[in-house]
Amino acid sequence: MQNAQIVICGAGVTGLTLARELLSRGADDILVLEKEHALGLHASGRNSGVLHAGVYYSPGTLKAKLCIQGNFLMRDFCKERGLPYQPYGKVIVAKTPEELPTLDELHRRATANGAGTRIIDEKELHEIEPYAATTQRAIHSPHTAVVDPKAILQELQKSLAATGKVRFMMGVSAIGRDKPNVLATTDGPVEFRTFINAAGAYADVVARMFGLGQGYALMPFMGGYEKLRDEKTHLVRGSIYPTPDIRNPFLGVHLTRGVSGAVYAGPTAQPVFGRENYHPFEGLSAESALILVRNLRLVVINPKYRAAAKEEVVRRVSGSFFRDAKALVPSLSKGDLVHCSKAGIRPQLVDLKTGELVMDFLIERGENSLHVLNAISPAFTSSMTFAKLAADELASTTTSKS
Ligand SMILES: Cc1cc2nc3c(=O)[nH]c(=O)nc-3n(C[C@H](O)[C@H](O)[C@H](O)COP(=O)(O)OP(=O)(O)OC[C@H]3O[C@@H](n4cnc5c(N)ncnc54)[C@H](O)[C@@H]3O)c2cc1C
Repeated sequence: MQNAQIVICGAGVTGLTLARELLSRGADDILVLEKEHALGLHASGRNSGVLHAGVYYSPGTLKAKLCIQGNFLMRDFCKERGLPYQPYGKVIVAKTPEELPTLDELHRRATANGAGTRIIDEKELHEIEPYAATTQRAIHSPHTAVVDPKAILQELQKSLAATGKVRFMMGVSAIGRDKPNVLATTDGPVEFRTFINAAGAYADVVARMFGLGQGYALMPFMGGYEKLRDEKTHLVRGSIYPTPDIRNPFLGVHLTRGVSGAVYAGPTAQPVFGRENYHPFEGLSAESALILVRNLRLVVINPKYRAAAKEEVVRRVSGSFFRDAKALVPSLSKGDLVHCSKAGIRPQLVDLKTGELVMDFLIERGENSLHVLNAISPAFTSSMTFAKLAADELASTTTSKS
């Protein structure tokens, strides 16, 4: 039987940065299980690649506490390892005067969170982003940067494996628990002293193998993108974001220049019916009917969810995706945005009792396990500081028990 001191389920950015953190604290026998044969096939390899600065999050939340330091740690990691990193910065603009109170609230939050933003006027906006439009004022976030998420995952895996203290089992799924300290996998039983669940879209399913995560479910939302034609990429220098509805976790369609120079518009946030339902008939399963029912229930009982779902449906059927992008950069013309295959699915934790979307990161502890239940954006940015928090959490229980 395979065995390891620490078994981590999931080789996304959460699992890999946790392995790195535990290694730095002296762990020397870590086994990472990953159901796919390659890295980055899900959220960690399919995101916008933005290192956020901590603008949006209510002060005091984990997102608020962990984001900017995570941004700096990831920046340093990219620089040390020679990985792509571009400090392009970002602006948040207001489409209408009605959005200004929210814009100002974002600036208040950003200041409390140490994000280092400034309120700028239209003249300054045009110096930073000559083609962007706003109403009266905007926010400038100089610490927002872009990276290559897949390059980061590969470097993390390479450096972990090189220590000889971290082993990887790729193409192996956790499927249950045989005994309190023995995991059932598609490659046979694996014994562990400590188990860490970093299974992304399946974190609730894995938590239930340990009797945890009850009362929650992860629901999948498709984040689709379009691409700016190469001749038009000069219209966007860094990132241009709208003022979002801050009652929901999604940030609205934005324009982002990636490390390659390509500019993407998106992502959307459409409910889909499978945790890996990237294409119309891919990733559907017996669970799809349950996901549909959960969506319908949320539409009925949660007015914020109803409003967000309506906005997404309107975006899909009325072509308002383009209108949203054009509100940010008015000189965009219809043919400037072209279809692209880039898409990711965001698993969003829902409290099944209240019907509320869980807005912050969430960890649950078991006797010999730790479960990361809601690694939502900006979990890529925050991963290295989140790993410290999770490792502290593990250490505190270990110490108090010993
Ligand atoms: C469209 C989109 C845009 C985003 N943009 C940004 C952004 O710009 N900046 C930012 O900071 N964040 C962004 N995010 C969020 C960020 O990508 C995620 O929060 C983060 O990648 C989550 O990482 P993870 O390791 O927890 O999950 P994942 O990357 O999903 O990794 C989990 C891994 O666990 C594996 N797994 C699942 N079940 C099992 C099992 N039973 N056994 C073994 N392995 C299993 C999966 O195959 C997967 O590889 C975005 C997300 C999306 C989808």
